[in-house]
Amino acid sequence: MPLLDRALLGPGPSNPYPEATLALAAPLLGHLDPEFLRTLDSTCARLRRVWGTENARTLPLSGTGSIGMEAAFANFARPGDVVVVGVNGLFGERMVDVAGRYGAEVVRVDHDWGRPVDTQRLLDAHPEPSMVAAVHAETSTGVRSDIKELARAVHARDQRALVLADCVTSLGGIEVDIDSWGVDIAYSGTQKCLGVAPGLAPFTVSERAWDRRVQRPPTWYLDLNLIGAYVDGSSGGRTYHHTAPVAMIASLDAALGRILDEGLEAVHERHHAAGRLLHEGLVDLGLELFAAEGHRLPELTTVRVPEGVDSAKVRQVLLTEYGIEIGAGVGAFASSVWRIGLMGHNARPDRVALVLGALRAVLGR
Ligand code: PLP
Repeated sequence: MPLLDRALLGPGPSNPYPEATLALAAPLLGHLDPEFLRTLDSTCARLRRVWGTENARTLPLSGTGSIGMEAAFANFARPGDVVVVGVNGLFGERMVDVAGRYGAEVVRVDHDWGRPVDTQRLLDAHPEPSMVAAVHAETSTGVRSDIKELARAVHARDQRALVLADCVTSLGGIEVDIDSWGVDIAYSGTQKCLGVAPGLAPFTVSERAWDRRVQRPPTWYLDLNLIGAYVDGSSGGRTYHHTAPVAMIASLDAALGRILDEGLEAVHERHHAAGRLLHEGLVDLGLELFAAEGHRLPELTTVRVPEGVDSAKVRQVLLTEYGIEIGAGVGAFASSVWRIGLMGHNARPDRVALVLGALRAVLGR
């Protein structure tokens, strides 16, 4: 399986979950071939299970995770709408940028990087927002924010506000339960815990949000009214919208099938167990974890670069001598934090042992 993010560990010698990669090598089908359309239906059905939703409008958008973000704001935020965004890292900042480009009146609520977004602060930011948005798993800092609590609190106060969650680094890694949490709109990406090449953005939207969609969003490609007519085969006829990336969808379908075969709970537990092991091992090495305790992601660990250590040099040695890729920090933490991914097939104890052993050797501890 290819590894596709700087925050991910290298593939190592054995990958027990090759389904997504093997699917990429299968003979290509046409995008209107009935067999491909069955795969598309299967992908949407499997996505519903992994998202924890019965939302009819659950589909893979053609594009990377950011296109999910674009689609969310383009289709559900009108010019002048108040959108409250919790910002605790790079991807919250990106939400602010994207929402603003679609004309929303963005109320930005900044938090220290390394801390989760604070529900009460988001509530206090505006009395009647049309949308409240936050990143579930902030990949830039390794922090999990409590989207379940946020959605409950927002809906308890105001039945009108929609809740939008970025689940790019959480879907298929840690618990995401769209319907029981009351999330209205969510998007993800394929290259993180789902373990697929980058290129699709799993997307889901509730009926409540759908009723409030923008009728003619200022984008043709991401207009969900048009895309839905192609993806949704339930009414019989499908209308061509764009040529679906058939190989990517087949790959995603295979990966989702594998995840569901393993069992969602087992997959989450595997990520949690690997994360715990890594966190403990890093502390045993005398390193300091960056993300606030109690809010650390198992699939993306941030650790402070020790005083006097050249961050880039260590990363380079890990890459060239051990075949392990860890990420640099982001923004102000570019050279003072490392990011270690344990996503998808890398969420395993042998991967943890590998990275801990290599770090011990390179740091001379
Ligand atoms: N949101 C989060 C939390 C991410 O980690 C990323 C990418 O790393 C994105 C959004 C953007 O996704 P992409 O780079 O696939 O467009």
